[in-house]
Amino acid sequence: DFIEPVHVVEDVVKKFTLLYPSLTFKYENSLKSEMKVAIAERHLEQVLIILLDNAVKYSNGSTTVEIVTEQIQDHFALSIKDYGIGIPKEDLEKVFDRFYRVDKARSREKGGQGLGLSIAKRMVNNYKGTISADSEEGEWTIITVKLNGVIEEITQQE
Ligand code: ATP
Repeated sequence: DFIEPVHVVEDVVKKFTLLYPSLTFKYENSLKSEMKVAIAERHLEQVLIILLDNAVKYSNGSTTVEIVTEQIQDHFALSIKDYGIGIPKEDLEKVFDRFYRVDKARSREKGGQGLGLSIAKRMVNNYKGTISADSEEGEWTIITVKLNGVIEEITQQE
């Protein structure tokens, strides 16, 4: 089944804006409205909540979180960028493992089990999608989710 992703993303972003009034969540969408995505709404919502929770949790005093939805080739891409503590290069792939947390001492004070990203990855992989991390330590982190998309044919009226 395919869904229209934009209103799902807008709803979650709106909730975070209300939850964290001191932070700025900037949402930019460049998808055509015909773009449909292969995932259940509640799963896209859950993945986005996990990623925004992390962006807030590891923001380290920065106040901007950027959310982008766009089309990359045939795919739908959702990315969340924060300007917080970042992730060391050697940990970029491990953060998706169950119970893995970067620098135990540093992240212990933030609570958490090291489960969020492994759950997000499992959900995305279930739809044959991918999730990946890129970061510059101490500068920014971007988590990108890619899922299969379809452009709905507009039926021409004779
Ligand atoms: P929880 O189980 O509550 O989600 P968690 O945040 O520790 O706890 P994950 O979401 O799986 O678990 O993240 C794994 C680790 O990746 C985190 O402990 C943190 O070290 C690192 N991490 C995740 N997102 C970010 C981010 N946006 N910026 C910096 N580090 C991050």
